[in-house]
Amino acid sequence: MLEAPEKRDVDILVVGAGAAGLFAATWSGRTAAAEGAVLSVTAIDSARKLGAKILVAGGGRCNVTHETVNEADYAGSSPAAIRKVLRRFGVDACVGFFRESGVLLKKEDTGKLFPVTDSARTVLEALLHAATRAGVNLIHPAKVTALAKTEAGFVVTTDSASFLARRVILCTGGKSLPKSGSDGSGFELARSLGHTLTRPIVPALVPLVLPPGHWITSLSGLTLDTEVTLHAANSKNLFQTTGSTLCTHVGLSGPAILDVSRHWLIAKAADPNVSLSLNWLPGERAESLDRLFIEAQGRGALSILRERLPDRLAKCLCEQAAAPPTGDLPREARRTLVALVVATPLPITGDRGFSVAEATAGGVPLAEVKLETMESRVCPGLYLAGEVIDVDGRIGGFNFQWAWASGFVAGSAAGRAAAAASIATTS
Ligand SMILES: Cc1cc2nc3c(=O)[nH]c(=O)nc-3n(C[C@H](O)[C@H](O)[C@H](O)COP(=O)(O)OP(=O)(O)OC[C@H]3O[C@@H](n4cnc5c(N)ncnc54)[C@H](O)[C@@H]3O)c2cc1C
Repeated sequence: MLEAPEKRDVDILVVGAGAAGLFAATWSGRTAAAEGAVLSVTAIDSARKLGAKILVAGGGRCNVTHETVNEADYAGSSPAAIRKVLRRFGVDACVGFFRESGVLLKKEDTGKLFPVTDSARTVLEALLHAATRAGVNLIHPAKVTALAKTEAGFVVTTDSASFLARRVILCTGGKSLPKSGSDGSGFELARSLGHTLTRPIVPALVPLVLPPGHWITSLSGLTLDTEVTLHAANSKNLFQTTGSTLCTHVGLSGPAILDVSRHWLIAKAADPNVSLSLNWLPGERAESLDRLFIEAQGRGALSILRERLPDRLAKCLCEQAAAPPTGDLPREARRTLVALVVATPLPITGDRGFSVAEATAGGVPLAEVKLETMESRVCPGLYLAGEVIDVDGRIGGFNFQWAWASGFVAGSAAGRAAAAASIATTS
């Protein structure tokens, strides 16, 4: 009779060694050591090369965090719950961790913090070094294909071996950039242990697509500040943001569009009648712009717009509004032009998908974990951290800060619990 292959015993097994997983594993090891216990902590990742997402983050410079972070910078789960986790490991703690790990961070005018080296590799190397120093055993490539809870602990099956783990920390990320290893398989692992998933799960921080040939696509390459508004079917403003916007050959991108994208996709799934509009002159309102055109009557619409907008855009707006670029501006054309400048309707047909998205909106509801420990309320001994949870941040370092904070809480709680259990058995 063939014997089943032996399972390797570990105290804490971290599934996924991205930002949250490396942090959780490091803090498990550090906390256990501080409690005087020697534990085996193993982190398993399916990727051949670890940290692909950290390396591409922030255009290769890795926007590690932001000078101020609070719950208003996030969406998904309840703001009060997000705040509780964030305040356990704030920006100062993050800066301190990286300083001690040899990575100094610098603040840019936008409030974003980057390593002074401008190289994401220094961030990844510091995280890997911290994990190794904390005694973490890193195994990859090995994909976790099943997780089952038994009396003896969690049976963790990978494509090459199986483990018996006293505690598991699930840090498998979401579905964005699947080629980095975050293919959404962690959602199914969470579900197999009794968790639910929010619906729908959609890309976040993703460029949006316009119908082929839409006039905005002819402005490809143009970047300027705009105000983007998401309207409910009854015209009520559901979300508004101002920031840099990039016109692309297929639609729109840039921070303002990326920030609105998750709100648009979630709202659209609930009500197909929601709509998006774009104000090319942020802060400007129809009444004041209308007055400006009336007062400057005779100067020509194009020359007025050119004073405040790029030439290409000013011409396009006049064309689209059928407004004569020079000479008198008839009342109807003036009204159409004003409406177009402050509220161009965006007939979005889709998004660029998870392969381009920087984050995932949706996942395991934060309400299903205990906020003090990030331990599952439905499966004791299981902890969750990072993007696998239904929390996503706006652009600017907020997603990493969530990974650091939730990874810290989960890792230190699992380390403390495992240390207490190990000390109890040996004494
Ligand atoms: C192009 C891009 C740029 C970004 N830039 C920034 C930025 O500058 N600042 C910022 O704050 N955020 C940025 N983000 C978002 C940020 O990278 C993520 O929010 C963050 O990495 C999430 O961390 P995580 O550990 O939860 O998940 P991930 O980083 O996705 O890590 C999950 C890990 O789990 C592994 N895994 C998944 N399933 C399994 C399985 N079944 N078995 C074993 N291993 C598994 C994966 O291989 C992966 O390594 C960017 C994202 C992208 C795609």
